[in-house]
Order: sequence, then structure tokens, then C-alpha cells
Amino acid sequence: MEQRKSEPRKSAADKKLVIGWFSFTCSEDSTILLTELLNDHLDEWKKVVEFRYLKALKTKNSLDGLDVAFIEGAISSETQANEVKKIRNNAKYVVAIGACACTGMPSASRNAFVGEQINEKIKWYMSHFDYSAKVKKLEEIIKVDDKVDGCPMNVPAFLEILNKYLKIFKIA
Ligand code: SF4
Repeated sequence: MEQRKSEPRKSAADKKLVIGWFSFTCSEDSTILLTELLNDHLDEWKKVVEFRYLKALKTKNSLDGLDVAFIEGAISSETQANEVKKIRNNAKYVVAIGACACTGMPSASRNAFVGEQINEKIKWYMSHFDYSAKVKKLEEIIKVDDKVDGCPMNVPAFLEILNKYLKIFKIA
């Protein structure tokens, strides 16, 4: 009888931390910092991290089975709120990246506009694009497990959090 070929068994040593990296309303400076970090860390990270969702660097991306979702930016529309809820449902842990995700600011500056500050131009933008009344920090929409503050993100704090999750998933 012909023996069925079985899938190569993955050992614990092959396990990688499955990561997603997402950007919402922001200047994406933390994404730029992440790509800068790859200059120094790519070889090391390739062995222990799978970037399953990273639109800035890849065209094929998936939300499935994320261990950790890193989310940069504030949430400024219902569409974004729905997207971020979907990410939360697909990730074991969520980390807010940078001040906009952690506190809303500076992306949420428009929340403070009152009276005459809301001129015709602003009204036009608000009515012609997909904006909610208020810009929100991530925690106002979904549960956040960790935060990396800074504008852009504090790099040593990000590396510390990454190592924390590598340990939690027994990868490093
Ligand atoms: S926290 Fe600062 S660097 Fe990061 S997206 Fe917001 S404005 Fe840009």
C-alpha cells in the first residue's frame, strides 16, 4: 500500500511570532521607523517573526491568525472603527503604536475645533469624506493590551514589547 506523504512536522523551534502591522489616521512615521529598524534587524527577525500583514512592504497580506497586531494612528471614521474591530477579532494581542493610537493626539486635534474655527472648508471636508464626528484613540474602540507611546513611537519601548511577546509565545 502506498504511504501518504505527510506534511513536514514543525518543531517548536520553527514557530514564529505572527505579526500584523496596521496604519490608520496618522503620518505613518512609526511605519517608517519600523522599516528603518529592518536595516539592522531583518536577519534576526526573519528567524522568529512572520510579518503576515504589512501593507507598506508587501502586496500579499492576511489577517488570519495573528499573534500580535501593532496598530498605528487614531480612528477617524466608522469604516476605520469596523476595520480595527476586525483586526481585534483576528489577533490574540493588540499593541497601540505611537501617540495617535495611544492618546488620539495629535491626529485628534480637530476634536477641539469650535464655532468659527469650523469654517466652510472644514465643513466641506467633513461632509464629502468618510469622517466621524470625533477622532478617537484606539482604546475607545477596542481592547488594547499594550502601548508604545511617542511621536513617533519610542524605539527601545517597541523593541522591549516585541521581545515581551516573543517570550510570551515561547519563541525567544
Ligand atoms: S504619533 Fe506622531 S508620528 Fe505617530 S502617527 Fe501620530 S503624529 Fe505621526
